[in-house]
Amino acid sequence: MRICLDTRPGGANPNEDWVAGSPTLAVVLDGLSTVGLSTGCQHGVPWYVAQLGGHLLAKLADSQRSLSDGLADAIEGVAGMHPQCDLQNPGTPSATVAILRQRSDAFDHLVLADSPIVFEGVSGYSVITDLRVDVILPELRTEVERHETYTPEHKKALQELVIAQRQVRNTPEGYWVAAADQDVAEYALTGTTALADVSAAAVMSDGVSRLITEYKMATWADTFELLRAGGPSALIERVRDVEATDPTGRRWPRYKSGDDAAVAFCQW
Ligand SMILES: [Zn+2]
Repeated sequence: MRICLDTRPGGANPNEDWVAGSPTLAVVLDGLSTVGLSTGCQHGVPWYVAQLGGHLLAKLADSQRSLSDGLADAIEGVAGMHPQCDLQNPGTPSATVAILRQRSDAFDHLVLADSPIVFEGVSGYSVITDLRVDVILPELRTEVERHETYTPEHKKALQELVIAQRQVRNTPEGYWVAAADQDVAEYALTGTTALADVSAAAVMSDGVSRLITEYKMATWADTFELLRAGGPSALIERVRDVEATDPTGRRWPRYKSGDDAAVAFCQW
C-alpha cells in the first residue's frame, strides 16, 4: 500500500503523538497527557511513544506474528529499556495504539483505545475505535467541560479527572492503553477486512478524528476527499483552522485548544 503521513503537536509542548508507515504497515500512537502530574519515569511521554513505535515496527517485521502478540512484545521491550523508572506508578507513560497491516488480499487491524481506524468501503465508512475512556467518570468530565480552556478551574478539574482515570486505567472498570504491562494487548480490538471490500483507510489520533466526531465540521466522506486532495497535512490544517474559531473551548469544550494530531492515509 501507499501511505502518506503527518503529525504535529497541538501547541508549544513536545508532540506526544507518533506515526509511521511501511509498505505493509501503518501505526499511530497517541501518548496520554500527564497534565503536570508525576509519572515515575524520567524519560517522558514523547520518548515512550517513539520507543513503542520503533519496537512495534521491529516486532511486526515478522508478518506471521499477530498484531496482538507484536504489541505485547513491543510493550515488554520498552519496559525493559527503563527498569530504573517506577513502572508501577499509575501515571507511567502510556499510549493508545492503532495498527493497520496489509497481507496479500486482506487487512489486519488492531485498536487499543480511541485512536480510530476508518475504512472507506463500497457501502460507506466503518470506524474502529474503543471509546470506553469517554464513558467512565462522567461527573469529572462534566466538571472539566464546565470551564473554559486555560482557566485555573479548568486545569484543576482536568488534573482531578486524570488522577481518577489513572486509578481505573488498565483495569476492567476502566479502559485499556499500552503502558508497562504487556497483558493489555489481549484487550485490543482486532479483526480482518478483505482488500476487495475497501478502497482506502485512514489511521489517526483523536486529535484529528474530533473534527468529525466532536466538532461535527466534516463528514468521513469530506475527510477522505480532503485526504486525497491535500494529504494528511491538509486535514490537520483543517482541524487547526476550526479550533482557531473557538480557542478557549466555549463551543466545543475540550482539554486543550488543540490536541496533538497524527494521520496515516493508506491507499492501494
Ligand atoms: Zn522511564
